[in-house]
Amino acid sequence: MRFSPSHPTTISIPQLRATLNGRVIAPDDAGYDQARTVFYGGIDRQPAVIVRTADATEVSQVVSLARETGMELAVRSGGHSIAGHSVSDGGIVLDLSDMRALHIDAGRRTAWAQTGLTAGEYTAAAGAYGLATGFGDTGSVGIGGITLGGGVGYLVRTHGLTIDDLLAAEVVTAAGQLLRTDAETHPDLFWAIRGGGGNFGVATRFQFRLHQVDRVVGGILILPATPDVIGSFVAEAEAAPEELSTIANVMPAPPLPFVPAEHHGKLVVMAMLVHAGALEAGDRAVAPFRALATPLADMVRPMPYPEIYPPDEEEYHPVATGRTMFVDAVDRGAAEAIVDHLRAATAPMAVAQLRALGGAMARVPAEATAFAHRGRRIMVNVAAVYERADEAAVHQAWVSGLAAVLHQGDGGAYVGFLGEDGQARIREAYPGSTWDRLVAVKGRYDPTNLFRLNHNILPTPPKEAAPG
Ligand SMILES: Cc1cc2nc3c(=O)[nH]c(=O)nc-3n(C[C@H](O)[C@H](O)[C@H](O)COP(=O)(O)OP(=O)(O)OC[C@H]3O[C@@H](n4cnc5c(N)ncnc54)[C@H](O)[C@@H]3O)c2cc1C
Repeated sequence: MRFSPSHPTTISIPQLRATLNGRVIAPDDAGYDQARTVFYGGIDRQPAVIVRTADATEVSQVVSLARETGMELAVRSGGHSIAGHSVSDGGIVLDLSDMRALHIDAGRRTAWAQTGLTAGEYTAAAGAYGLATGFGDTGSVGIGGITLGGGVGYLVRTHGLTIDDLLAAEVVTAAGQLLRTDAETHPDLFWAIRGGGGNFGVATRFQFRLHQVDRVVGGILILPATPDVIGSFVAEAEAAPEELSTIANVMPAPPLPFVPAEHHGKLVVMAMLVHAGALEAGDRAVAPFRALATPLADMVRPMPYPEIYPPDEEEYHPVATGRTMFVDAVDRGAAEAIVDHLRAATAPMAVAQLRALGGAMARVPAEATAFAHRGRRIMVNVAAVYERADEAAVHQAWVSGLAAVLHQGDGGAYVGFLGEDGQARIREAYPGSTWDRLVAVKGRYDPTNLFRLNHNILPTPPKEAAPG
């Protein structure tokens, strides 16, 4: 399929339909509005076409179409980009959601997964074998985006980041070439896609390592949000055995059926705990958290690991603003600031999320992958979720205010949680020599910056022609 570069931005929908087996969705089609909707609300972009590719060959064709027409290319896996990067205004959306094949080799404990799968789908299928690869805290997030960013979730202290279990990948480059990459084959590309996001090509398949994670001790524990509880929670989370990973959301208690009505809307620590080890050891590991205060709700129990992802709410499209950073400690002053700021928040839902890191994640050398924050102890995400996009300024100011108080030293940033934060924050996601290496790899695999609708790494500028 060739399109004339002399007519940029013109594509023939009938020609595309005739060429591809995958679904081609154009602005006049009935499913167009649904297909251009992404997870976050307030993002209303109108792509010229959305192509749900059927296989890697078609991915290559669509990449070539973008290159030859000069049209903007958005790549979509699960559609959860916080910056709305998975939908283009006027360009092409390459939507991987029909590519969901998964082949699990239970004997070898590996899986080949197409990148249209969500974390929840992959986890449910692997769970049938008592096996798991760690993703994040939300089942509807696509394995495409979360893996390329790093992947910090319920198994982070036990088994590391998602990328620490990535064994190989198949990637369609800007030239339309399908490459297999692993530690030995195109190792520069394999290094860069482990944390460098969608800058280097379209990942069509990942090969993951699986771990034996059958029944875990896990679930929601809700505690009152006092500065003491917040500070002690983080201290216990850091001191806990590595089998235990926690995510503490300090936020107003949602009206969940198991939360007594008198606590709804009150500030709580809504924590998710997962202990991936022996069940009795799990009970012991969770005990110190239960002892921090009388729990307002305690749903922590032995359960099959996939149950950690409740069913998705398909029509939930929040408008949100946030700030991500790393800190070395949550001391008394920080815990007080969290409580004070959350009490003063005007957003219907405001949250300070605290994730104790360390364990397996910290044992990987910082230079081994493009995620370089291996030594950071705690990830903090401050966010406000609200209803009307025109309220953004006030909530952004609130987020900035709390983030400024919590900021310590080199704040750093996790690329997976960056929104439209600007180039300086992208640099913070890739400290030191990581940035220079990424720029060089980008120059090799995407010299014209075809893959630019992302947290963009500009390729090395082309060398000037020698005089004469
Ligand atoms: C509710 C929610 C909870 C989250 N929780 C966590 C968490 O616990 N841990 C964590 O680490 N992150 C978390 N994240 C962040 C999440 O990992 C990123 O937003 C991620 O990019 C989403 O992936 P996606 O495939 O769903 O998104 P998409 O919007 O489809 O993709 C995001 C971007 O990634 C790139 N991309 C996606 N797939 C491919 C591909 N196959 N090839 C090339 N480029 C691709 C593209 O640049 C695309 O624009 C969360 C996000 C949300 C919204």
